[in-house]
Amino acid sequence: MSQKRDYYQILGVSPEAAPDEIKKAYRKLAQLHHPDKNPGDAAAEDRFKAIGEAYAVLGDAEKREAYDRFGTAGPARGGEGFGDFDPGFGSIFDDIFEGFFGGRSGRTGRSAHRGADLRYNLEIRFEEAATGVEKEIVIPRLETCATCRGSGAKPGSQPTVCKNCRGTGQVRFSQGFLTVSQPCGRCRGEGRIVEHPCQTCRGLGQTKAERTLTVKIPAGVETGTRLKLAGEGEVGVRGGPPGDLYVVVAVKEHSLFTRHGDDVYCEVPVSFSQAALGAQIEIPTISGRATLKIPPGTQTGAEFRMRGKGFPNVRGFGQGDLLARIFVEVPMHLSAKQRDLLEQFAKLESSEGSPLVQGFWDKVKALFE
Ligand SMILES: [Zn+2]
Ligand SMILES: [Zn+2]
Repeated sequence: MSQKRDYYQILGVSPEAAPDEIKKAYRKLAQLHHPDKNPGDAAAEDRFKAIGEAYAVLGDAEKREAYDRFGTAGPARGGEGFGDFDPGFGSIFDDIFEGFFGGRSGRTGRSAHRGADLRYNLEIRFEEAATGVEKEIVIPRLETCATCRGSGAKPGSQPTVCKNCRGTGQVRFSQGFLTVSQPCGRCRGEGRIVEHPCQTCRGLGQTKAERTLTVKIPAGVETGTRLKLAGEGEVGVRGGPPGDLYVVVAVKEHSLFTRHGDDVYCEVPVSFSQAALGAQIEIPTISGRATLKIPPGTQTGAEFRMRGKGFPNVRGFGQGDLLARIFVEVPMHLSAKQRDLLEQFAKLESSEGSPLVQGFWDKVKALFE
């Protein structure tokens, strides 16, 4: 059990197989060798465990990369290298049978297949989300190797047909009453073997490249908005179509504004006298300053809506509003003269002038009488 194995061979996939492909191969095999389907068959149980072990590594992007590079799934840690593979039938069991009955089968590795989709996380400023912006992004991706044009064979040589499966990529064997078809282990389901690998791409047919793209971010995007750039993912294998690139937007927070849908909120502090006397104030909006008139007697929490001063709707359905939420600041430091005037003011305070205060104490009085 503990000798070194080739996980790709165990799952019958090629080393450049897409994650989706690996998952499919794993489900198919795990279903086939599941102990419930092979009661009392110790060999099937061993195979089932090996399949699980292989998938625990190849099904995890990080471990797979380490395995490709170092031949193990991470720094060697004496026997616990595959810590999160559970040979029991807990969560893995669920995973195997999810979508099991709808599964397609019988695809060989020889067919052309689509390149992988890529995801790029792009952070933009709040204002950029409001106006829209063009961004240049650099994406690392796999491209068809220019030296071998994707064949994986050294120029002047050709991949040869696998003798084990006669080029079909599949081998058949009997299991009880059934004849089962499985990806060929010798060619890893490819149907062909590259005897003289291309030195540029080490036989993979693809090389790592960086590509600069200009992405147009429309006005009104929000965190989580996903933009699809069709055909900008990784190149397809053996002439298959390329995958797509998904740019996922994250909008930075703003120190003055918060967003709710297409509306923008701004907390506006006003002084005690502005609130009491009314005022005309210049407030910020995402498209510049705007004049807001607050009436005399404005309270903390009062909201004033300015139509059309919010975010444009990303799908073109109009424009949100700006909501200015007032917060009254009580003076914290008084000069001698201010204190004098306020004390005079306090003597003149009346119940009509402070209906909330008056109403509160009327209720308190009623409660205890
Ligand atoms: Zn090459
Ligand atoms: Zn073969």
